[in-house]
Amino acid sequence: MSESDCGFVDFKTIKKSISMLQVLEHYGLAQTLKGNGDSLSGPCPLHGGQTKGQFKVSTSKNCWHCFGQCKSGGNVLDFVSLKENIGIREAAIYLMERIGLSTVPVSTIQSEGKEVTSPQRQKDDKEPVTTAEESKINKPLGFVLKYLDPDHPYLTDQGLSKETVLAFGLGYCKRGILAERIAIPIQNKGGELVAYIGRFPGTPPEGKEKYKFPEGFKKSLELFNGHRAIKESSTEPLVLVQSVFDGMRIWQAGYRRTVALMGNSLSEEQATLVKEIVSSQGRVVLLLREDVTTTANQSILLRLSSSCFTKLITFQDSITDPEILIQAIRS
Ligand SMILES: [Zn+2]
Repeated sequence: MSESDCGFVDFKTIKKSISMLQVLEHYGLAQTLKGNGDSLSGPCPLHGGQTKGQFKVSTSKNCWHCFGQCKSGGNVLDFVSLKENIGIREAAIYLMERIGLSTVPVSTIQSEGKEVTSPQRQKDDKEPVTTAEESKINKPLGFVLKYLDPDHPYLTDQGLSKETVLAFGLGYCKRGILAERIAIPIQNKGGELVAYIGRFPGTPPEGKEKYKFPEGFKKSLELFNGHRAIKESSTEPLVLVQSVFDGMRIWQAGYRRTVALMGNSLSEEQATLVKEIVSSQGRVVLLLREDVTTTANQSILLRLSSSCFTKLITFQDSITDPEILIQAIRS
């Protein structure tokens, strides 16, 4: 991925907006530190020290220092960077994902040292700040992950070509929040990046999920590839599948009017998105896996068939050849 394709993480904003206390609370460390007012101290949670008072936090300056083994200090980003053993940029992404900036008064958010004075910001200033949790949207991320490896063997094993991998922006993530997973960008219907989901490349070991979804991200509000599918000719039916990889394989085989649920159920919001894409005369083909319970597949059919012409085709898990699936769609 070239530099120009990449967004940015505004470190300055993060350092101003996220407090050391929030970070300590996030890690469940707030109780281990004693003190009052501005200064807190205790054993160092970074090097695992036991000596009381070696680790100090100044809440007013929003910084920390370890006088023990670490012999260093810094801001919230430095702390997370050392705690997670990740780079500053990944630490910024970690904090945006886990703690976020949404509860901070907008007037304190600065960009590159300048107050943000766009009309949108001024308007927001007068409105109560709502968090993504409260509103029925996934907030745009505002950054993109860098250094995703598009040549990971898992992607080839899934039958994806380099062209498809690049078109969807996927790649293996070595470090950070999606470490050792394939990061899959998810866009909203307007094409804005709202999340990365992480697929474990292969069968995950005990205790690890096949898919990792970011905290606070509501997959029920999005359709994978919906923003592209809506631009395709509406003479053909919209194909709806469960998994993003099925969706990409069908897309790659030339059937581009395809969306994926990222799961086995269709929410009300997703049904609305489907209706927006197919319009009133449109048709939907549900191409669903047989290994999922019949009830789940039937309920998707029921939800859509009241408003669109919907056909249900189920296929065995062993079928991965998209050509066979496309024949089924067009039959
Ligand atoms: Zn230390």
